[in-house]
Amino acid sequence: DERIILQAQITLYGNDERLLMARDITRLHRLEQMRRDFVANVSHELRTPLTVLTGYLETYADNADQLPPRLARGLSQMQGQTTRMQNLVNDLLLLSRLELEQSGDDHLPLDIGALLENVCRDADALSAGRQQVTVEIAEERTLLGSEQEVRSAVSNLAFNAVRYTPEGSHITLRWKRHEHGACVEVEDDGDGIDPEHVPRLTERFYRVDKGRSTTTGGTGLGLAIVKHVLLRHDARLEIDTRPGHGALFRCVFPATRLAAANEQGSRVRR
Ligand code: ADP
Repeated sequence: DERIILQAQITLYGNDERLLMARDITRLHRLEQMRRDFVANVSHELRTPLTVLTGYLETYADNADQLPPRLARGLSQMQGQTTRMQNLVNDLLLLSRLELEQSGDDHLPLDIGALLENVCRDADALSAGRQQVTVEIAEERTLLGSEQEVRSAVSNLAFNAVRYTPEGSHITLRWKRHEHGACVEVEDDGDGIDPEHVPRLTERFYRVDKGRSTTTGGTGLGLAIVKHVLLRHDARLEIDTRPGHGALFRCVFPATRLAAANEQGSRVRR
């Protein structure tokens, strides 16, 4: 690839003068591409050995009653850690795909109501009765987007709400109209997040509480995935953190993703 990539900045002055500054970022761009390819390849290569390990561990776990207690405890630790590694590898792969590939299905009509109800059930299962998870859905239920990608974004937000709120909290998944179109909201009444962290929350591996996060089962990539899915859907993430009163994550989809979806939806039904 012999292309040269320039970054341009134009400054306008009152007296009709303009200043154009151009920077050659070809090298930077190539390095970034190499980083992405590398992460994608490494994650892919790690999958097979992890599958083999998981298989053997499962076989041993099936016969755990024949093992000395100390070994059985170690075995269960190993299973926990391989699951964690698998989640990490899967999230890394998903993130590289979101960065690298064009998705073919991000303009298909999807039933966002059914999707939210589904994620609500999964979040409820993860919560195992510790929190109360409910869903509120507006009339218009069709969105133009990739079902798989939107599902992973909403799941990440809902699972975070379960992981980071104390017992007895309420979590609401919502689909409603918004002045710019419509939005998905994931709201909880947990401890919220200190506003100082908000600008960095969607960075890879950024965590508010470094110590606690390793025990919550998250990979540190959840909100980075949410950000990239929304970018691909012309949508925006708003975070309202209200420390002490819970957190609200809002994904705002533009009206173009709804009107078009309704047209396509009715065409499909006819
Ligand atoms: P992970 O959850 O795997 O650590 P994420 O990118 O999904 O990574 O989230 C980043 C951080 O944001 C979390 O570590 C947590 O500190 C904070 N966070 C996310 N959602 C919530 C929430 N609903 N309430 C409080 N803190 C949250």
